[in-house]
Parts: sequence; C-alpha cells; structure tokens
Amino acid sequence: MNNITVKVENIYKSYGDVEAIKDISFTVNNSEIFGLIGPDGSGKSTIFRIITTLLLADKGNVNLLGFDVIKDYKKIRNMIGYMPGRFSLYQDLSVIENLNFFATVFGTTVDENYDLIKDIYLQIEPFKNRLAGKLSGGMKQKLALSCALIHKPEILVLDEPTTGVDAVSRKEFWEMLRKLKEKNITILVSTPYMDEASLCDRVALIQNGEFLNIDTPDNIIQQFNKKLWSIKTDNMYELRNDLKNYEYTETSFAFGQMLHYTDKRKNVEKTEIEKFLSSKEHSNIKINMIKPNIEDCFMDFMTK
Ligand code: ADP
Ligand code: MG
Repeated sequence: MNNITVKVENIYKSYGDVEAIKDISFTVNNSEIFGLIGPDGSGKSTIFRIITTLLLADKGNVNLLGFDVIKDYKKIRNMIGYMPGRFSLYQDLSVIENLNFFATVFGTTVDENYDLIKDIYLQIEPFKNRLAGKLSGGMKQKLALSCALIHKPEILVLDEPTTGVDAVSRKEFWEMLRKLKEKNITILVSTPYMDEASLCDRVALIQNGEFLNIDTPDNIIQQFNKKLWSIKTDNMYELRNDLKNYEYTETSFAFGQMLHYTDKRKNVEKTEIEKFLSSKEHSNIKINMIKPNIEDCFMDFMTK
C-alpha cells in the first residue's frame, strides 16, 4: 500500500452562478499536516465539505484510504473527524454532555477512546459541567477538537480551527496538532492566517477556487526570486499613494507598520527607490531588503 491517504482529483463545484472551486487536485500523505491557506470565500470550506461527504462535487473524484466519497460515504464518515468552522458544538449542553453525545453518535464511549483525547481534554476538564456556550474561544476549540477525535478517526479535517481564537490558544492548538500527527493521524486544516503556513508540512495557497501553489512552506519561500523591500516613512498614507503611482512598482502592500514592495527592475538598488521617495518629499525614509514570508509569496502568485 502506498502512503497516500487523501486523493482529490479534478473537483469542481458551483453554487448557481458562483464557481466556488475550479479543477482542484491534490494528495495528502499519511500523518501529514496539510494546510489550505486562503482568504474568505476562496473555497476552503467547499473543499472540506466535499472531502467529508457532506457536499457532492459537480465533477471529479475524491478518495480516502482507498474509499470513494460517494460510494463509500458511510465508511468514510467513520474514518474522519470533522471540525466545522462554527457551531459544531451544542451550546446548551455542557462540556461532558457534548463529548458523550459525539461518542454516542459514533457508537462508542468517552472511556473507550480516552487515550487519544486525554492531553487535550485534561485542559478543559475543570470546566466539564460548564455549558459549551459559556466557554472561551480557546476552550471551545479544545472541546470541538476532542469531539472530533472521540471516535478515533484516521483523518482529521479542521475548518479554520484557529479563527477568532487568541494568540496563546492558537499556539497551543498547533502544538496539539503536532502531537496528533505523531499518533499517525492525517490532518487537513484550513486557515486565513498566513503565518500559520509554516506550521504545516505542506500547504496549498488558494484564491478564487484555484490553487496558486502546493508545496512545503520552505519551498514556496525559496521560489520567491526577486528583491523584497520593507519601506517606511513619516507619511505612510502618501507613501502608499506614491508607490501605487510609481512606474516601477510591481507590488506594494501594507504589512504591519511597513509597506512591502517589489520593483519591476530586476536589479534595483536601494538608492534608486530612496531617490524617488525623496523627490516626493518623504522624510525619515527607511528601506530594507528583507526575506519574504508566505504572505509575500501569496501576493506574488496573485500578480502572476
Ligand atoms: P471559504 O471557506 O474559503 O471562505 P467557501 O468554500 O465557503 O470559501 O466559499 C467559496 C465561494 O462559494 C464563495 O464565493 C461563497 O460565497 C460561495 N458559497 C459558499 N457556500 C455557498 C452556498 N451554500 N450558496 C451559495 N454560494 C456559496
Ligand atoms: Mg470557510
């Protein structure tokens, strides 16, 4: 048997006039953490609903561990744990009641599979009688993950699990995913946060229902083969306008307190950009050549 756990071939899906995904293909290997990274409306949830058998593609095939999402949907539902973006928990049930409910649906018990969720569940156990609706975002997320794991799935599908969760809980969540990977679970996870790309083994960058690239985060960054500048002046508003209208600007976008900039001239020097900004009467001009991050690569692919 080969190492491929998830095989998606040429899937399409439209909702009326909206083409949500266009000819998407990819594979995910056993115990890989595979990330779908893209903005709102790019098609992430549509792909996950098709993989989890909840939605039928208009065209294409999806195969999980040798089973077909259409023919073998019952089998597949037992093999996967799915954490949808929102409302996966019953807000009016307590922590322990939610967990028991999900275990029962899959014909198992919390005790039977406690080992797999133990590390995660112990963090929310002190609140086991609290209603799910009254938990913090980080705790809800841990409970939802416990519920998705309670039937020992081989594949986890997590749709934006860290959206709207504080930075500490986000970090803890990714650590939990690393541990689950070590337990041989294959993980598909989507996120709008570009900085989470580096926590995946491989990522697909998605925009308007199409993949811009699929690779390891390192390889994606390696492919960025031009000079990238971070620019700051006293007047960021004017800086943005001036760069927008500059004949040599290739890309320019806000990143934190800076602008990230690429130039159409292959070997442009810092002094040339500086000269232009001085001519526009900018003061305190700070220009540095920097290493690209995934977001820079995303912007770069989008302009191609
Ligand atoms: P993401 O999860 O990346 O935000 P979605 O897969 O939810 O993206 O959406 C992809 C596109 O399909 C968007 O343009 C969205 O508005 C549209 N869409 C999603 N679900 C539906 C639906 N049930 N009916 C109509 N359009 C939809
Ligand atoms: Mg979504």
